Amino acid sequence: MHAYYADHFVLPLPKGHRFPMAKYAALRARVARELPKAQLCEPLAATDGELALAHTPAYIEQISSGTLSAMEQKVIGFPWSLAMVERSRRSTGASIGAARAVLPRPTAIGKAAAAVNLAGGTHHAFAGHGEGFCCFNDFAVAARLMQAERRAKRIAIVDLDVHQGNGTAAILKNDPSIFTLSMQGARNYPFRRQQSDLDVELPDGCSDGQYHDALALALAQLEQRFTPDAVFFLAGADVFAGDRLGRLKLSIDGIKQRDAMVFAFARRFNLPVVMAMGGGYSPNIDEIVEIHFNSVKAAFDYTHGHENH
Ligand SMILES: [Zn+2]
Repeated sequence: MHAYYADHFVLPLPKGHRFPMAKYAALRARVARELPKAQLCEPLAATDGELALAHTPAYIEQISSGTLSAMEQKVIGFPWSLAMVERSRRSTGASIGAARAVLPRPTAIGKAAAAVNLAGGTHHAFAGHGEGFCCFNDFAVAARLMQAERRAKRIAIVDLDVHQGNGTAAILKNDPSIFTLSMQGARNYPFRRQQSDLDVELPDGCSDGQYHDALALALAQLEQRFTPDAVFFLAGADVFAGDRLGRLKLSIDGIKQRDAMVFAFARRFNLPVVMAMGGGYSPNIDEIVEIHFNSVKAAFDYTHGHENH
């Protein structure tokens, strides 16, 4: 299994900034240690042409040249720097690399594989602006690029980060070839919703059982309404009970079960899976890394079977 990392492109943040940058290096170290057969890969930087599949040329230029206003930077949540641009391009490149590693869909049943972006899931990035720690929308860019490269025709984005994939929904709103499913905490950011193809709103304090029931229903609806030839899975860790921002009450085992349900869906239809990590804001970084690692392990097992570490 291919796992793309961009944690060595460090974004300089002011002291006390709440974005958990350290989780990415810790996650890569754990993957290297516990899944030695996973192939750790450095991504290429996404080019202007690739980014333009989901973003306006004016916005790409604004980010690249550092001409965002103070307000625009504040909405993104990161101060602009050349390192920020490089990291955003590499993180998008990581989803592109992961997608190319598993697409096109194999014709042999049971041979579909998963690949991972050990960062990514920047689903709050819109065509013409960024927000919520997201500059470029890695899944929207990678999905459109896979279509342009004729590796996939129809893609389902299954966004299980606790926050709505508002940027993804807006970019892909009039695109019937990419289905956007987003499950989110009803009372969580972003407060102004965009319309995904399927939105599921979860109550504060949502338990493992409630979540799994809602996900089963959502996947059944997806199955009825759309026939994908790939799944892009945003496996956010911020549904966790210990998350500072999430408001839901999923256990670590409950999140494992969530991931298992997505992979079981993909297995039934022999679908390649591209996975990105998304959010995770527990004050205990070990817990975030544990949850992300479990997701990576599920992707590894999907690709290699359970015994072959
Ligand atoms: Zn989130």
